[in-house]
Amino acid sequence: MAQADFPLIQILRELSDFRARLVAVSKTKTREDIWHLYHQGQRDFGENYVQEMIGKKEALPEDIRWHFIGHLQSNKVKLIAPFVHAIHSIDSIKLLAEVQKQAEKCQRPIDCLLQVHIAREQTKFGMNEPELIQLAEEVLLHPAHSGHVRLTGLMGMATLSADKDQIREEFRGLRELLQSLQKNYFKDFPYFRELSMGMSADYRIALEEGSTLVRIGSLLFGPRA
Ligand SMILES: *Cc1c(COP(=O)(O)O)cnc(C)c1O
Repeated sequence: MAQADFPLIQILRELSDFRARLVAVSKTKTREDIWHLYHQGQRDFGENYVQEMIGKKEALPEDIRWHFIGHLQSNKVKLIAPFVHAIHSIDSIKLLAEVQKQAEKCQRPIDCLLQVHIAREQTKFGMNEPELIQLAEEVLLHPAHSGHVRLTGLMGMATLSADKDQIREEFRGLRELLQSLQKNYFKDFPYFRELSMGMSADYRIALEEGSTLVRIGSLLFGPRA
């Protein structure tokens, strides 16, 4: 088992000061690694790859809440819809509509967060502001896009950088976007309030800027190969 740099308890203590919750990002880590945190009480785990998440889900306890946080192709939604708790990486109307369709088929709710591109890097996925607004308008026009899907907020990844001010500015921008969407579009969506932001390197800044869900991997599980 990889050695964690930091015990779970210490991170949870920090989060509780901000009333934020932890998604333990277990991608590339073993089932034993997950068991280790499970025995300490952790129930929310995040994965980036569909097949890897399915394999782990089948081998691990039923009460784990699986969060899908990687890029998701529409044609793979049906594979995870029967069990996934939340999808943090909704980046198009098409994907949201597919999640809705599959959630309907499974007759179960799925939490969805809209992924926003807040970083400077070109490579990170997510919508820009006009795309987000277009999606919000679509959701309001066609409530069929919600239904079993519960829109719970926004997700973003900051630039991989040592510049703390830059990172803070990006997280702050995401929080302001959430507030503006709440006010202008999602007044009647009481669950639209989560900010999924902050990873091992920048979660403290994210907490200070209002994160409600941090996604931490390497700090908990040790570095990935
Ligand atoms: C891998 C990953 C994380 C966790 O990254 P760490 O730096 O290991 O904490 C968080 N969010 C997403 C979307 C990821 O892909």
